[in-house]
Amino acid sequence: MNAGPLVKPVATTRTTCPYCGVGCGVRARVTGAHVEIDGDVDHPANAGRLCSKGTALGETLGLGGRLLYPHVGRERVGWDTALARVADGFQRVIAEHGPESVAFYVSGQLLTEDYYVANKLMKGYIGAANIDTNSRLCMASAVAGHKRAFGEDVVPVSYRDLELADLIVLVGSNTAWCHPVLFKRISEARERGDVKVVVIDPRRTATCEIADLHLPVRAGTDVWLFNGLLAFLHQHGVVHTQFVAAHTVDANRALAVADNTAGEVNAVAKLCRIGAGQLRAFYQLFARHERVVTVFSQGVNQSSAGTDKVNSIINCHLLTGRIGRPGMGPFSVTGQPNAMGGREVGGLANTLAAHMELGDATHRATVQAFWNSPSVASRPGLNAVDLFEAVHAGRVKAVWIMATNPLVSLPNADRARAALERCELVVVSDCVAETDTNVFAHVRLPAAAWGEKDGTVTNSERCISRQRPFLPQPGETRPDWWIVCEVAKRMGFTEGFEYASPHSIFVEHARLSGVGNAGARAFDISALADLTRAEYDALEPVYWPLPNRPSATSRRPFDDGRFFHADGKARLVPTPPRGAVHQPDQEYPLILNTGRVRDQWHSMTRSGSAPRLTGHAPEPYVDLHPQDALLCGVRENELARVSTKWGSVVVRVRVGGDMPRGMIFVPIHWNDSFCSDGRVGALVNPAVDPVSGQPEFKHTPARVAPFSVAWHGFVLSRKPLATHGFTWWTRALGAQFHRYELAGRRVRGDWSAWWRRAVSALDEEADWLEYVDRNAGLFRAALVVNERIEVCVSIGPRPNLASRTWLSGLFAKQRLCELDRAGLLIGHPVDGGTDNGPIVCSCFSVARTAICDAIERNALATVDEVGRACKAGTNCGSCQPEIRVLLAELRPGGARQRRD
Ligand code: SF4
Repeated sequence: MNAGPLVKPVATTRTTCPYCGVGCGVRARVTGAHVEIDGDVDHPANAGRLCSKGTALGETLGLGGRLLYPHVGRERVGWDTALARVADGFQRVIAEHGPESVAFYVSGQLLTEDYYVANKLMKGYIGAANIDTNSRLCMASAVAGHKRAFGEDVVPVSYRDLELADLIVLVGSNTAWCHPVLFKRISEARERGDVKVVVIDPRRTATCEIADLHLPVRAGTDVWLFNGLLAFLHQHGVVHTQFVAAHTVDANRALAVADNTAGEVNAVAKLCRIGAGQLRAFYQLFARHERVVTVFSQGVNQSSAGTDKVNSIINCHLLTGRIGRPGMGPFSVTGQPNAMGGREVGGLANTLAAHMELGDATHRATVQAFWNSPSVASRPGLNAVDLFEAVHAGRVKAVWIMATNPLVSLPNADRARAALERCELVVVSDCVAETDTNVFAHVRLPAAAWGEKDGTVTNSERCISRQRPFLPQPGETRPDWWIVCEVAKRMGFTEGFEYASPHSIFVEHARLSGVGNAGARAFDISALADLTRAEYDALEPVYWPLPNRPSATSRRPFDDGRFFHADGKARLVPTPPRGAVHQPDQEYPLILNTGRVRDQWHSMTRSGSAPRLTGHAPEPYVDLHPQDALLCGVRENELARVSTKWGSVVVRVRVGGDMPRGMIFVPIHWNDSFCSDGRVGALVNPAVDPVSGQPEFKHTPARVAPFSVAWHGFVLSRKPLATHGFTWWTRALGAQFHRYELAGRRVRGDWSAWWRRAVSALDEEADWLEYVDRNAGLFRAALVVNERIEVCVSIGPRPNLASRTWLSGLFAKQRLCELDRAGLLIGHPVDGGTDNGPIVCSCFSVARTAICDAIERNALATVDEVGRACKAGTNCGSCQPEIRVLLAELRPGGARQRRD
């Protein structure tokens, strides 16, 4: 329809995705009450692509659960009262106990401008360095490895290099789920040309679906593997002698350690528990291909030997001179949207601003003079784990937590909870009212959320992009930079914090990056220091370095062979291998590995509100090898308690066949808002890497045991259900309903009366349908009001209950037919309906059975054919690896059986 001039043109805002470190460009269009989201075709990170999470961003913008007003305790107060309470509280503690008795714990969700002022306040004005970030949990080992090797935290690769490479090695990275658009770019490059992909990961993840070679190494053996590669390259003469001589030092020391510890391929293969042929094939691939990019992520970083793992990878690139040129280099991909921006402003407790160092007196003087600040911290502050330990010990008495939920994400999270319980002053700035952490806050400050914020972020490839607001700030929410500046002013630091907007913060940050630099530091964006407000608003994505020197041109880091140690040379760092701090034993015989699922993000405060993101993994689970499941006495779909020395969770058992013997996997996302007993952080050991301080999330000794209950059940309900009184519960948001998975130890004598009370089904006008089989322990019921389903309940002694997917579909109907009513009571469609099984394609809600049927009916052989047949995988493509698995399963003579 042509509505002509009556239709007001809808403005499109170009902004950046708030989830992972790929940093995709997003276009947002506000149309009435809706926000349409699509990928920004002009953004270099994604060229219009988005993953399932990015695609669903428009569903996450509601105000339900938002913190909209300042609170002191449970009482709503005005901003003046709240800010004064924070400023006075911090000043009092500092006056009594010194500057190191206070701390900030910030987040890779903050924008660079927020980060900059928080760091400035703590390090330049309070005069301590007790500011650390949740990015410590994700990439601190990469930072430390870069600094050891290059003299500065510089990522030498960009996404474009993945398309120029002949070999891509993915180490400890389930790229398909954690960096989906990057995975898509790799998949497309592989389909276009002759690029080979090697995946090094103990688990067979979705990423392996495009691998030419998968090395399922024993957990924690990466240093042996890459030392072995270094020795192999040397033994076979694959050394860039000229580069090594001119641009590196310590090659001989690193080689001596590699030769001593991993000089023999068969021995390394045995230690890594992979076939010697497989390992040799990898080493030969690496040796043969000049253009090789080694992508690494949390599987490398989150280790008590994380920094050595990083350097063992970098060593191989330095020995072969495969760095600083197109299509090659070691590539750390970050987990969070602005982990890199945080690094640039010095958001870690051991760094200063603009990639300057706390331990360098000249740098300290430079920063203090630039800020004109009363002091500058003279020694590193507490890293994340130590910071909460210091709170627990009472050494830190006031903590301000910004945009993060540490009681879910930290290791040994129950101890962190105990720390906050006893802390004198806990302040949070957050956009969410109730999180596991916020309930301990004495002061809650309502922060603006994505869609309302204005500033910049830097992605994994050093690309700075604008996050632009397209929604008004609701209630009394304020941007984080404003909140920090207002507290600073009330602490008496007015001069340093008089900013009119994020633009004035950004240009100061850009100016500082050029001060005392003259090429001494790679991080230099001084060419942006003179941006006007209008230019800042219109800023296109730009890559650093961007120095403001006539002779300098923007260029690829290290393309001239110059590194940032004082002598201009890179270091090959000797990496003697060592095992994890805590090893399995009789009591805890398994290794707990933790990580992300495809469609959720961190503690689900945003992604958990998008119904289409909940169907893929609706509840927390433990994935384990079938033989380990047998030994532990647990069965698929039942509940199990996973315990470590530090804590325990109760989660659903999955025996998917993708885990190696001896390892279990539990996702990180579930917390007290979504599950009665699902905070995996409580299980994780607090061991950290001695260089980077990054915790060991991938290796905690654990055991799994059956969690006995008398009944399992689920409820789908248009209204929320009170969850107290259930032994175990988890909740997820569906399209028109709330979904609760439940379990209990006590079977009620009269389920009918009990459930009618529980779901408020006492209205005599409503239809209450029920089916009871006391002998079999089955109870099914449904509340139907005005022909529409309101609630359905299914209870049984085992978890194989009625079909959730089919029942979910009934909530979309305005009127139930007779067959639907009958199906409600028998627990599956009577006829004419289809039970589609779990969702695979979130974008188009295509479930597994529908895809399997399409494959079988039409003898489909490729992902594209499946897409044409049922649309699955044709939007964001995040589900394509799973479609490939289904194609393999159903191929004649396929390795696996159809699982529905
Ligand atoms: Fe967002 Fe997905 Fe892009 Fe990551 S890959 S930035 S989550 S759209």
